[in-house]
Amino acid sequence: MTPDVIVVGAGYAGCVTARILADVGRKVLILERRNHIGGNAFDYLDENGVMRHEYGPHIFHTNSKKAVDFLSQFTDWYPYEHRVLGSIEEKLVPIPFNLKSIELLFSNEKADHLKEVLISVYGMNTKVPILELRKNDDPQIQELAEYIFEHVFKYYTMKQWGYSAEEIDPAVTARVPVLVSYDDRYFQDQYQMMPLEGFTRMFENMLDHENITVQLGTEAMDHLRIDPENGAVYFNDNLFENPVIYTGLVDQLLNYVNGDLPYRSLEFDVQTKDGQFQPVTTVNYPGPAEEYPYTRITEYKNMQKEPPVDKTTIAVEYPYIYDRNGEKGNVPYYPVFTDDSKQKYSAYVKLLENVPNVYLLGRLAEYKYYNMDAIVDAAIEFSHQLLEKE
Ligand code: FAD
Ligand code: UDP
Repeated sequence: MTPDVIVVGAGYAGCVTARILADVGRKVLILERRNHIGGNAFDYLDENGVMRHEYGPHIFHTNSKKAVDFLSQFTDWYPYEHRVLGSIEEKLVPIPFNLKSIELLFSNEKADHLKEVLISVYGMNTKVPILELRKNDDPQIQELAEYIFEHVFKYYTMKQWGYSAEEIDPAVTARVPVLVSYDDRYFQDQYQMMPLEGFTRMFENMLDHENITVQLGTEAMDHLRIDPENGAVYFNDNLFENPVIYTGLVDQLLNYVNGDLPYRSLEFDVQTKDGQFQPVTTVNYPGPAEEYPYTRITEYKNMQKEPPVDKTTIAVEYPYIYDRNGEKGNVPYYPVFTDDSKQKYSAYVKLLENVPNVYLLGRLAEYKYYNMDAIVDAAIEFSHQLLEKE
């Protein structure tokens, strides 16, 4: 039977859209190349009883009630506020860098002075992106900004992206602003919580619908062919005129005609340890690559509701250049935002203008640094627009 809609990818973008369309009677076929659903938010209980996040730590935080309401149809939650420490000058200090970080790294007198200047210029309870702080003319603010830049952002960003903080889109480092406060949480959003039985269970419930069929282990491009010149899409060699919602890599969709789009990848060195490994879920290592070739270590059980006591699982995160044929770094995790890559992406999107029934959605396909809540909101919006159009 011909589906009403084909969705490529069973991550947030694909699953949220599939569910909304299925709820109004559309027969949806999801093609997913991995052997599991959930995309990069996939988690499972490992041999240590730890809820391990296969593709890196995922923490749900948002100000969007719409996203919370949608997901709450499929899961209960428990409260969890993420805290991160940075290993700086052999001390563990709060990240985002805050007033407490200043106190821990400078002498009392100097710290008092720096805090006073920061508060007088920006006000208490404000957030300042590091690249903004660096532009301040006040010599004392400049000195502090350079210190934070050097010790928190400079090498971490180089390791993570292969580009300097000045070369990459400023929105990237602005995700972790300097906090003029004692708030030591990584996020300040209104809702901060984790799905009670994990993300994967939430996705299972979302896809549990008579109108949704999921084919795992299925590379979509073995079944779909796009002919941009004639504006046609073929599914198993038959012309397919219903919507195709594509959440994968746009260069792959178009057979790499304009070359590869740059993505950044990661490798996780997962280890079992006894007891407790570190005081918080994530410790960042913003020092130079020669000293610390990794960016952060996550101890998953520290964000679990009922963690195991005896054993623990940690993941040491190593950034890589994405290479689709590589033995390592072959998972595209982050779009790399430079002027060049944005132009290349736009050229791909232009090629698709002539193919009206293919829609790009999600972090990979839209080439956007979406958090989970943002892609839920975007998928809800997209689905409603699609239904209005029909
Ligand atoms: P994905 O989750 O990547 O799903 C796309 C799916 O499509 C994948 O399952 C893929 O296998 C499949 N696919 C692609 N191409 C094809 C094809 N050709 N054929 C078949 N299947 C295909 N967000 C937060 O809110 N909080 C966090 O703490 C957080 N931490 C993160 C940590 C890391 C290391 C990373 C990389 C991301 C993190 N995110 C976090 C972001 C979050 O992962 C994304 O917002 C979310 O996964 C995006 O969903 P998506 O559906 O767009 O993409
Ligand atoms: N960043 C940094 N040092 C840190 C934390 C973050 O330089 O200790 C920069 C770095 O460029 C990183 C970006 O801020 O890629 C965004 O950090 P975030 O923790 O949001 O990244 P993600 O969790 O998405 O990997």
